[in-house]
Amino acid sequence: MEICPSDKCTGCAACQNICPHDGISMKENQYGELHPEVDKTKCKNCTLCINICPVNNQPVFNYPSLCYASWITDIKKRRICASGGIGTVMAEYVINKLNGITYGSRYDDNLTPIMTSANTVEQLERFKGSRYVQSIVSNTTYKEVLANIKSGKKVLFIGTPCQIAGLKAYVKNDYENLITVDLICHGCAPTEYFNKEVKYICQRNKLSGITDIRFRGNDNYNYCFSFWKNNGENNHYEYMERASESYYLSGFLLGVTLRENCYSCSYARPERISDITIGDFIGLGQQVPFDHSTTNVSSVMINTEKGKSFYDGMSKNTPELINVVRNYQERLVYKPSLTKPSTRHKLNSIFREEYLRNGYTTAIRKTLGGYVRRQKAKRIISLPWQVARLVWTNAKRIVSNVW
Ligand SMILES: Cc1cc2nc3c(=O)[nH]c(=O)nc-3n(C[C@H](O)[C@H](O)[C@H](O)COP(=O)(O)OP(=O)(O)OC[C@H]3O[C@@H](n4cnc5c(N)ncnc54)[C@H](O)[C@@H]3O)c2cc1C
Repeated sequence: MEICPSDKCTGCAACQNICPHDGISMKENQYGELHPEVDKTKCKNCTLCINICPVNNQPVFNYPSLCYASWITDIKKRRICASGGIGTVMAEYVINKLNGITYGSRYDDNLTPIMTSANTVEQLERFKGSRYVQSIVSNTTYKEVLANIKSGKKVLFIGTPCQIAGLKAYVKNDYENLITVDLICHGCAPTEYFNKEVKYICQRNKLSGITDIRFRGNDNYNYCFSFWKNNGENNHYEYMERASESYYLSGFLLGVTLRENCYSCSYARPERISDITIGDFIGLGQQVPFDHSTTNVSSVMINTEKGKSFYDGMSKNTPELINVVRNYQERLVYKPSLTKPSTRHKLNSIFREEYLRNGYTTAIRKTLGGYVRRQKAKRIISLPWQVARLVWTNAKRIVSNVW
């Protein structure tokens, strides 16, 4: 039984959460993407799953009324956040000041990203940063959210637009105590690709006990695929690949390995599905001057009145947060994720053919072998120039100081 066209299915799991007969499970299809599978022996043809599916219903979108360039000045708090640390301070506000609960993505004990809750600030440390992989919604995630809403708790849910669509379809009503925040989204690679890549890298480099894997940060590891180990007190860096030299990150960023539905994503548009949208402020200051550093600044779009009153309240209570009003058009000019879905790379078909024959690990290396080798060669060739530039810049500084 097909709940929605499989090339449009986002794997949001709303159908699995709504099924009153526990008759739907999420299973990997031939390309490793999670899709719902209906157990015919349990199905009573109630069609709740079909009726609730966000793919089968046009969701409500809102054009943002406000756009900010935002970041927090607390460098320690922001260090492992993806960009300006806005996801983190919103979650902190809900927990600390509103006595509420937040939902987002973190790794489980097997380093699989999952959508789950946090109700203490200490737990939030594990939610920081962007995991460029599909984070799994379980068969109880939306049920738990609804139970929390109905108990009167303030609930903040941060996720990809398709996860927000799944949640909104499941909870149906626009509850005053639910705040939804979607990420500007390039697309997601299936969880299976990530799990296979991690296993391969750990085996090849004899890594064990890895507790965190990062893609972004306000440290020296921004846009690096980096592996970390926690010894109880601190995180120790164990292994790192630059984005352009990482098979996994290159496949994701180039648009070779995204889920099929991401190439025709209906949420990649200026109008948004949630109360607030957060992302990177790409292009900041390029057309209209910006008086601050533009490095890792977030863009925050306010899409509803509920979102506005929440964000205003949070900003008043968060002295380390800076919000600078910008024109939304400025953010819309750069990079496509806010205006159209990611483009399918021409190597996607080669990757998929190879995937069917040999699985992810071989397929990605065969498909992107040439690309990754060229990127490594470019870096090595440019090394002497980089050293020369560094020496020249420092020499100029020393000379100007002396004189
Ligand atoms: C798959 C993906 C693709 C993205 N593509 C773009 C893009 O094309 N353009 C752009 O401008 N921004 C994109 N972003 C958003 C960007 O990477 C940052 O997440 C955003 O700028 C917020 O940064 P922050 O410092 O405020 O967040 P932080 O304070 O670091 O908080 C990050 C929040 O994101 C949530 N999160 C992390 N990974 C996932 C995930 N896999 N699924 C669901 N929720 C997750 C965490 O739970 C947390 O709440 C993407 C993010 C993801 C996860």
